[in-house]
Amino acid sequence: MKLPFDVSQTSFDAAVQEFRKIVGTEWVFTGSEDVALYRDAYSLIWDEAHELVPSGAIAPASTEEVQAVVRIANRYRLPLFPISTGKNLGYGGSAPNMTGTFIVDLKRMNRIIEVDDRRNFCIVEPGVSYFDLYNHIQKHGKRLMMDIPDPGWGSPLGNALDHGVGYT
Ligand SMILES: Cc1cc2nc3c(=O)[nH]c(=O)nc-3n(C[C@H](O)[C@H](O)[C@H](O)COP(=O)(O)OP(=O)(O)OC[C@H]3O[C@@H](n4cnc5c(N)ncnc54)[C@H](O)[C@@H]3O)c2cc1C
Repeated sequence: MKLPFDVSQTSFDAAVQEFRKIVGTEWVFTGSEDVALYRDAYSLIWDEAHELVPSGAIAPASTEEVQAVVRIANRYRLPLFPISTGKNLGYGGSAPNMTGTFIVDLKRMNRIIEVDDRRNFCIVEPGVSYFDLYNHIQKHGKRLMMDIPDPGWGSPLGNALDHGVGYT
C-alpha cells in the first residue's frame, strides 16, 4: 500500500478508524484485493513505480456521510478522489490522479430524485447510471429521450463533470 505524499501511517490509520465509524467497517476498503479494484485496468504503466494507485476507498451512502468523510480527511490532510461509477474505462477508470489518494466511491448514492418531462431536467445522485435513468424513464412513462454517450454503465454526473456529449 502506498501512502499519500506527506501523510504518516499514524494519521492514515487514524483517519481510516474514523471513516469506519461513519460508514461502517464493510464500506471502508484498505485490503490489497479490494483496493486493487480501483486501479486503472487499462493503465499503460501497470505495476510500474509511477502507476497512480489509491491507498484505500470508502463508499458513503448519503450527503451527510460524504460531509463527515471530508471533514475527517481534512483533519488528517488525507487527499480524496471522488468517483461516481468510476467506469470511465481507458481514461483512468477509478484510479486517482495522485498516488495514495483515498477514493470516495459514490456508487451507493444511486437515487433518482426527480425527472421532469415538462421542463426537461433530472436530479440524480452520482451513482445513478445511464441504464438506471433509462429504466426509470421507461417505467414512469416519461416523454423524454436521453442524450447519452457510448457507455450506458457510466453516470450522467461523471459525464457532465467531464463536459461530455451524447449521440443526440
Ligand atoms: C467506451 C467508452 C466510450 C465513451 N464514449 C463517450 C461519448 O461518446 N461521449 C462522452 O461524452 N463521453 C464518453 N465516454 C466517457 C464517459 O461516458 C463519461 O466520462 C462517463 O459517463 C463517466 O461516468 P463515470 O461515472 O464512470 O465517471 P467517473 O469515472 O466516476 O468520473 C469521471 C470524472 O469526474 C470526477 N467525478 C465523478 N464524480 C464526481 C463527484 N461526485 N464529484 C466530483 N468529481 C467527480 C472523477 O474524479 C473523474 O475525474 C466514454 C467512456 C468509455 C469508457
